[in-house]
Amino acid sequence: MILLQGKGVSKGMIKGPLYFYKRNDGTVVKTEAWDIDAEKARLAAAQEQAIDQLNALADKCREENGEETALLFETHAMFVDDEDYVDAINATLEEEHCNIEYAAWQAGEQFAAMFEAMDDAYMRARSADIRDVTRRLLNIMMGIVEGGIDSDVPVVLAADDLAPSETLQLDKTKILGFVTRGGSGNSHTAILARTMGIPAICGLGDSLNEEYNGREVYIDGETGAVFIEPDEITLGSLKDKMGKQQQMKELMATMIGQEDVTLDGRRMMVYCNIGSPEDVTAVKANDGQGIGLFRSEFLYLAADDYPTEDEQFEAYKAVAEAMDGKRVVIRTLDIGADKQVEYFHLKKEENPAMGVRAIRICLNQPEIFRTQLRALYRASAYGKVAIMFPMITAVWEVKECRRACQAVMQELTDEGIPFNPDTEIGIMVETPASVFMAPELAKLVDFFSVGTNDLTQYTLACDRQCNDLGKFFDPEHPAVLRALKMAADAAHAAGIWIGICGELGANIDLLPTFLAIGIDELSVSPASLLPLRAEIRKSIAQTCTLEKLLG
Ligand code: PEP
Ligand code: MG
Repeated sequence: MILLQGKGVSKGMIKGPLYFYKRNDGTVVKTEAWDIDAEKARLAAAQEQAIDQLNALADKCREENGEETALLFETHAMFVDDEDYVDAINATLEEEHCNIEYAAWQAGEQFAAMFEAMDDAYMRARSADIRDVTRRLLNIMMGIVEGGIDSDVPVVLAADDLAPSETLQLDKTKILGFVTRGGSGNSHTAILARTMGIPAICGLGDSLNEEYNGREVYIDGETGAVFIEPDEITLGSLKDKMGKQQQMKELMATMIGQEDVTLDGRRMMVYCNIGSPEDVTAVKANDGQGIGLFRSEFLYLAADDYPTEDEQFEAYKAVAEAMDGKRVVIRTLDIGADKQVEYFHLKKEENPAMGVRAIRICLNQPEIFRTQLRALYRASAYGKVAIMFPMITAVWEVKECRRACQAVMQELTDEGIPFNPDTEIGIMVETPASVFMAPELAKLVDFFSVGTNDLTQYTLACDRQCNDLGKFFDPEHPAVLRALKMAADAAHAAGIWIGICGELGANIDLLPTFLAIGIDELSVSPASLLPLRAEIRKSIAQTCTLEKLLG
């Protein structure tokens, strides 16, 4: 038996074949090639396959997202056999007698650089399209599967860690669980796993050896253990645990349809966090009473260019309609830091977590903000949409956000487009400054939602992406809990509600503390909802104390 030990970041036990994620990391090795015709034939075959893929994507988009994205893929398909592009590839091939992959990569970079040097912002952004088309051709020629999983059966996906844009492309039906060398409880792989309700283990380091590819493994997302070929005794206890897990699932199913209320009548709003419209299925399956955090950046991360107002509107509307009148809190763009999007051309920063990210990008680039706000307000006519702004630190920021909302509402009124003028506006409390300023901020908004992932990072000066911080990164630190209380007191004094949408909200051991503080809403991953409901229904709010704040 081989036992690997990491950190469990999403609970559950599962058995399946280990599959190492294959990515095109942009490295293309130059080798010698003298049979130019053979190389050209490989390119022709790849072009044919790429065009088929792109046309299929265009058809799919036309059905699901409308004309605009479909056109994007059709344009990509045209570029695949663009004469100038192919001439540039052939020129390198003939001059340098190199492999076709290298020649294609060279041509892609040359064209991308040419577009990048243009004055017009629209043309500059086309460089991302060229790189995307080239990447597609390279993936085909190098046997790398887009989405990373070339397997007929579901697998336990192994990787160093996955970037947000990579997690979006994964074929989720093929994933039983995740194991990663790096990452942390706050990494996007961990968040995705919790949303999907499947186990994940991070921080396995080099013990996660590619030699294990294809081997049957058991992973325990609670203890962080990975078992390869377990011995008889271990196998017995693993099977026992899987049996208990199944029983627990059945027990939790009895919570569906029950109210989120304590024994002494305190009501808690229990909502879900989602990262894309498709996650609504999991919210409904777990009887979520609303969506407390819809991370809208998925739209930006999944695209090759700024998503249009219509594309955004369709996505927000789909979620609002699917939730059928239940509250859907949509957070405006929160990129930067660990969520990088190429076409934003954000400058490389020394400290990106404290740099130009989230609301700072929106306030610096009003056109991007306006497009998103228009889409959000238009969607507000189709359900109970609420808008939430991330990374707030100052009163002036909220005032500016509100002015942008007013301007958009005026535009829509002038254009005769329906929207809900009473759409709730809220902010994320995820910086110490927003906690200190909570009394003033509370007067400007309809709700607070505490982002404990970032609040912990900024309060404790602990990088949320750093896996080596161990016990120093402690979201249960009394300082974080006191910050929560300060924000809650300010919210209630101003007559607004306060929720938690960071990962801490799902921590059942802290439920009594949240009840004592007076938290009104907890927004958790869909898989955490029913166990939380079961706990709420066993609690007596009046007897809960603030002892965890004492330190
Ligand atoms: C948070 O910071 O707690 C949060 C919910 O936002 P994100 O994890 O997307 O930064
Ligand atoms: Mg955050």
